[in-house]
Amino acid sequence: MDASQKQAALATIARRISSCTACPLSQGRTNAVPGEGNADADIMFVGEGPGFYEDRQGRPFVGAAGKFLDELLAANGMDRTSVYITNVVKCRPPNNRDPQADEMDACKQHLDAQIETIEPKVIVTLGRHSMQRYFPGESIGRVHGKPRRKGDLIVVPMYHPAAALHQASLRRVIEADFARLPEFVRKQLNNDSKPAPARTPVPAHLRAAAPDGIMDENEPTAAHAEPAAEQMRLL
Ligand code: URA
Repeated sequence: MDASQKQAALATIARRISSCTACPLSQGRTNAVPGEGNADADIMFVGEGPGFYEDRQGRPFVGAAGKFLDELLAANGMDRTSVYITNVVKCRPPNNRDPQADEMDACKQHLDAQIETIEPKVIVTLGRHSMQRYFPGESIGRVHGKPRRKGDLIVVPMYHPAAALHQASLRRVIEADFARLPEFVRKQLNNDSKPAPARTPVPAHLRAAAPDGIMDENEPTAAHAEPAAEQMRLL
């Protein structure tokens, strides 16, 4: 699909989202919030769900967390026209509570369709609910900022920008994680345009950190790694 076909497909998905009644969140919405940005983006950001202002405006990340997200994008040479921004659930959970598993399941069809259409090279998950889609059972404190290969994609789990509003010390952590994003994207885009190099299997205990800093799918993280891998990390 070229960019204009992707845009048209996203508009169709957005109409489907706006009339979706697959879960009870649809009953409380003022507006559904499908997402916005570049239909042909290399990078897609996936947050949790709309809050008060997003529900009012039908646009993602327009409140205080969104202001910080805009700053993080700008600090790293991006803006809302160069990336695509959406959420795991497209309708506001009551009183901004966490989205529930059945709501995320019901909304998955929409996020799947958006990802299939945009075909991003990099997905950045914002917050633990979005992270769970790719890193089930993981803890955000352990995996934040560490990219992983998932098929043709790399996925970079990040703290939710709102976390910095609740815990000031996380601001620096989030800024540092975002500052590495352009490097991951560059590596991923370079990787994409080159034929894949023949890979020699590397013993698990030596595989703790991939040469480009991007972990392969199903590779153990430090906490799940065998003791030998943990030892290697300390050397
Ligand atoms: N938080 C989110 O996760 N998404 C939004 O769109 C706004 C706030």
